[in-house]
Amino acid sequence: MKNRNKILVIGSVALDSVETPFGQVSRALGGSATFFSAAARVFAPVSISAVVGKDFPIKYLRQMRRLNICLDDLKIVDGKTFHWKGYYGEDLNSAHTLKTELNVFKDFKPQLNEENRQTRYVFLANIDPEIQSYLLVQLENPSWVACDTMNFWIQHKKASLIGLLKKVTVFLCNEAEAKQLSEEKDLFRASRWLLGKGPKIVVVKKGEYGVACYTRRSQFMAPAYPVHKVMDPTGAGDSFAGGFLGYLARVGNLDDRAVRRGIVYGSILASYNVESFSLDRLARLTRPEIESRFKRFRQMTQFS
Ligand code: AMP
Repeated sequence: MKNRNKILVIGSVALDSVETPFGQVSRALGGSATFFSAAARVFAPVSISAVVGKDFPIKYLRQMRRLNICLDDLKIVDGKTFHWKGYYGEDLNSAHTLKTELNVFKDFKPQLNEENRQTRYVFLANIDPEIQSYLLVQLENPSWVACDTMNFWIQHKKASLIGLLKKVTVFLCNEAEAKQLSEEKDLFRASRWLLGKGPKIVVVKKGEYGVACYTRRSQFMAPAYPVHKVMDPTGAGDSFAGGFLGYLARVGNLDDRAVRRGIVYGSILASYNVESFSLDRLARLTRPEIESRFKRFRQMTQFS
């Protein structure tokens, strides 16, 4: 196989209309698979499986290709692209959804090409859990499978999601979603419940309060990297997943040290992403910028 550390991601490629206290965009490039790929590509090659409609602007396809994201399994079909409309009030930790227009995702059945079927590392980014499962059965022998979701799917497809968890190695979600899915009020109990459903590692994102990671034997907590101005939190979770899983694919193992370093890299990618709308900041991010925040992160969390 050509790229042993390549990651395959399935998720939304979307047009996002977003308003925050600092500005707004209409039909900007977004989607869970898009933000993920823009972050993960700094550590490993990425290939997207998704669908867009014929209305999807060519400039966005070009933008993704410029970032070296492989689009061989991105289908372009008749119909409209997934559209998400949301806003953030003063509390930038919670997104308020105004519209979720699934459009071409409604009857999307991903079909992987021969090369993508052999991918060792897979991220099922936020999308319908039935689409996530449909992709999973096409993979020949993945080393690990990571999965994310959101309240929309917990509400509409809970049973499919819980069934999928059996086949997942790393599960990511935010704090409210962990509690909603497990029906537990306390995060530690929610993490135990999730670990009981299949995943070996559960990563809970807590917005500006950081990340909590649970395995059966250990826990790890990391703060969010502090930024001067959060312009738009959209994609923070996906770019976190991109930095985290991109790093894990690069190093090729899931031991505690790798997972902890990955979580710090994920937090750093998310911190850059929230400094702009859409992919603006991630698209021009460099490795030295990432390493400089990694160093500062270490200083910020060290004590004896
Ligand atoms: P986050 O990282 O959680 O901020 O994810 C933001 C991205 O999720 C946006 O770019 C949206 O296009 C996408 N999104 C919103 N709702 C859904 C949904 N129900 N399924 C898949 N993707 C979604």
